[in-house]
This record gives sequence, C-alpha cells and structure tokens, in this order.
Amino acid sequence: MSKVMRFSREFKSVDTVVDVGNVKIGGKFFAIAAGPCAIENQDQYFQTAKLVKKAGANLIRGSVFKPRSSPYSFQGLGREGLKLIKDLGEELDIPTITEVMDPRDIKVTANHVDVIQIGARNMQNFDLLKEASKSDIPIILKRGLSATVDEWLNAAEYLMVEGNENIILCERGIRTFSTQTRNTLDLSVIPLLKMRTHLPIIVDPSHATGNRDLILPVSKAAIASNADGILVEVHNNPDLAMCDGAQSLPPEMFADLIENIKPILEIEKKVITGTTMTLDEVRRRINYVDEDIIDLIANRLNLVPALVEFKKKNSLPVYQPDREKEITEKYVRLAAVNDVNPTLIRKVFNLIISEMRLFQAQKME
Ligand code: PEP
Ligand code: MN
Repeated sequence: MSKVMRFSREFKSVDTVVDVGNVKIGGKFFAIAAGPCAIENQDQYFQTAKLVKKAGANLIRGSVFKPRSSPYSFQGLGREGLKLIKDLGEELDIPTITEVMDPRDIKVTANHVDVIQIGARNMQNFDLLKEASKSDIPIILKRGLSATVDEWLNAAEYLMVEGNENIILCERGIRTFSTQTRNTLDLSVIPLLKMRTHLPIIVDPSHATGNRDLILPVSKAAIASNADGILVEVHNNPDLAMCDGAQSLPPEMFADLIENIKPILEIEKKVITGTTMTLDEVRRRINYVDEDIIDLIANRLNLVPALVEFKKKNSLPVYQPDREKEITEKYVRLAAVNDVNPTLIRKVFNLIISEMRLFQAQKME
C-alpha cells in the first residue's frame, strides 16, 4: 500500500490556514508579503517596510542570507542582520519573513523572525529541510528552478514529517527555453496543486518575471488562478538596490498594485487579515461569513432525505429528544471553548434542530 502523504488532500481534505501572528494564509485568507530582496541597512529596510505596510502589505520580506549567482555580489548582512528583522517586526507590529540557507542558521533565525523562507536553490537541500522540519515555525517553500511538482511536494513532505503543518508553497517561475522573462511563471500549477494539496500556494511575480512592469498583470492572473498570496519585492529606491533592482517596485507602484488587485480579490472572495480595515471591508467580510452560514445550513438540510429514509426503514420517530439534547449540550460546551456565549449557541441550535424536525416530518409523509 502506498503511503498517504501529509501534504495530500487524502491526508487532510480541507484547506490548511497558516496562522502567523494575526495574519492568516490559505483558504479564503490572502497574504500580501512585500519588502526588499536583501536587507542592506536599517534605513533602507525600515523605510521600505513602513511604506509597504502603509500601502496594505500584511507581511514583510527581506533577506540577510543571500544566495547569489556570483561570489563577488553582495552576500547579505548575515546573522548580524537578524536583529534588524526582530526590531522591525516589534516596531511595526507586523510578521516578518527571511530566507535561510544553512541548517545551522534555522534555530537562531526562528528566534528572530515569524516565517522562514527556503529559496528555490535550496528546495532539495535535504539537510536544511530536515532541520527546518524540527521547528514549528511557518515555512515558505519556493519551487526549485527546474523542479517538477512531485519533487516540490516531496520537499514539502520533508518539512512535514515531524508534524509541522505550517507550510506555504511558493511558485516563483521555472527555467524554460524562454529568455524574455527571468523565469517562466507556471500559472497552471496553482489550480493543479489545489487539487493535490491542502497547503496554501502563493506566487512570487518578482522572481518569476524579473521585470517590475509585469508584476501587476501577473499578480492579477495569480489571484484569478486561486493563489493564496503574493510575495513581491519592493525597494525604497530600486535604482540603488544592491540586489534585484530591475524587478523591485518603488513604493508608489506597490501602492498602485494593491489598489488594482483589490477588485479581483473581491471577485475571488479573498480576505486580507492583520491590516486595518475600512468600514466597507468589515461589512464585506461579515457578508462572506453570512453567506458561509447559509451554505452550511443548506448542507445540513441536504442530509435530511437520507436521514428520513433510514428512519422510515427502521420505524424510528422523527423526534428523538435524547439525541437532540446530546448534540445541543455538546455544542454548548464547544461554544465555551471558542469564547462564544453558550446561550447564543443553545438558541441557534434549538432553532436549527426544530426547523430540521419540521422538515423531516414533512418528508416522512
Ligand atoms: C528571494 O526571494 O529573494 C529569492 C532569492 O528567491 P528565489 O529563491 O525564488 O530565487
Ligand atoms: Mn530577490
């Protein structure tokens, strides 16, 4: 018998929602992670982060360990830079993301940031994956430069073997024959992965295209394809960036990106958490919850015919007070655990159950 993989829908059918502080990623929750490719100094990092937060990002990216193609390029601030990330997270009260390349840096990094990123070049660095799997910190796992979906999912499985479920996949473009863009964004991988895995999938339009002018249209397409977030490079002065300037958005373009993706997020019924909401946004979210409640009641009612058939066959009565009492009491206890007023839940379930009973009685005739 083949093993049921932890990443699979067989292992877990519902979407995983990763919690990072008060930010949620997955299901209906959309993440907007933004910030510089590399943290160069405190000014550049803090200025950029403040501007992207103000524009509506709910996570801040920025790396201190940089995987550079040339050994002569800026390699990042290293461990020294981790303190800047911790300070920024505390000062701006926003979760932070940074990349780790060396298994020996996992623990210290996890003490300074909220999310660890495993970059494309390290997707199959198995020692790194094994070390990261020992932590329960949320991990963004980027797709390798030429990794197949199965290789990518197996890498995610490495991260999950010790029980960490907080894994976020990130499509960042793959190597193809095309050199028009830095990489080729594999857009269809999003709906494809949605069928195979419960893990959230975000898209990095910056590394996928290498060109800041393509980030808005590609982000729109990613959202329409059901992505759970975007990871975008922003620099307070891209012309002076020490790394990936051509694909980095200046803060104004990032603010414009957020405004332009909002209508698509609305169509897709995606919600951004951890940011201050306008009255309209709060109301929109209340509407989504109400629609979910109606959906759930419809699901409950749809089970009535099967129930009636069973009761008829076995000459059971519609009204079974012991069963009604048992489930109501169970939900009242559950309410208390979830900080919901038990009296409210008792009222709601008395109403739902009595309506269901009437519906059953009609069907019995
Ligand atoms: C990055 O996010 O800065 C990065 C290096 O990305 P990737 O691993 O996708 O190339
Ligand atoms: Mn980069």
